Amino acid sequence: MNNNTRKCNACKKLIDISEMSSDDYFFRIYGKAKQYFHSECYIEQQMNRKRNPMTREECLTYISERKSENVKQNIEKKKEQKINAVKDQLYDFIADMYDISFFPTFFYIKMNTVYKGTYKGLKKSVPPEDLLDMWEQKKNYLLKVYERNRTQGKEMEGLQRVYYDLAILLSKYDSYLNWKDKQKIAQSDIRERENRTNDFISQKIISQNKPNNPNSHTVGNKEIDINSILDDI
Ligand SMILES: [Zn+2]
Repeated sequence: MNNNTRKCNACKKLIDISEMSSDDYFFRIYGKAKQYFHSECYIEQQMNRKRNPMTREECLTYISERKSENVKQNIEKKKEQKINAVKDQLYDFIADMYDISFFPTFFYIKMNTVYKGTYKGLKKSVPPEDLLDMWEQKKNYLLKVYERNRTQGKEMEGLQRVYYDLAILLSKYDSYLNWKDKQKIAQSDIRERENRTNDFISQKIISQNKPNNPNSHTVGNKEIDINSILDDI
């Protein structure tokens, strides 16, 4: 059985999932197994059942429910994969910054309490994405704190340093969120201004293209003097 074929649970023939339209087949999770069916095979099987046969309508509803369930699960799975990828990125970053080649189990347990928001003193969960962003942005600051501590005789190494810096970052999480909000607002301001500019340019092009406009020296769209438009902005 190659990657693109599945066995239909009713007729036992192969379903080529790369060639058939997804309306022609579906799968359901049955116990721990995935059961594939040609949609028509499933409908026939269920309609001809001796006990409690289903109507065609009921079968179609069942099939479409399975499909939306699977779509939802797929989205969840993709989300989880994405989060795990960011976690790996974060751990790589930490390993690199603190020159650590091995993380003990306790490290992962501690990090999970951060993501879940159960870390001591933390009021909300911190997604790995935010933690990575903060850590990258504050890298130089953290290095300076480390240097200052060192000159004051407060030596820390390896994971001890990581936990110390983690505590610093988490204490700044609220102000990080404020900063992020402001960034978002600034971004949407820029987008709005761009939209207004684009509207202005397209209006200008339309008005210059009107044949009875005395200021128009244009033939079609091509000879619009873009400089004169840009001067007006
Ligand atoms: Zn079949």
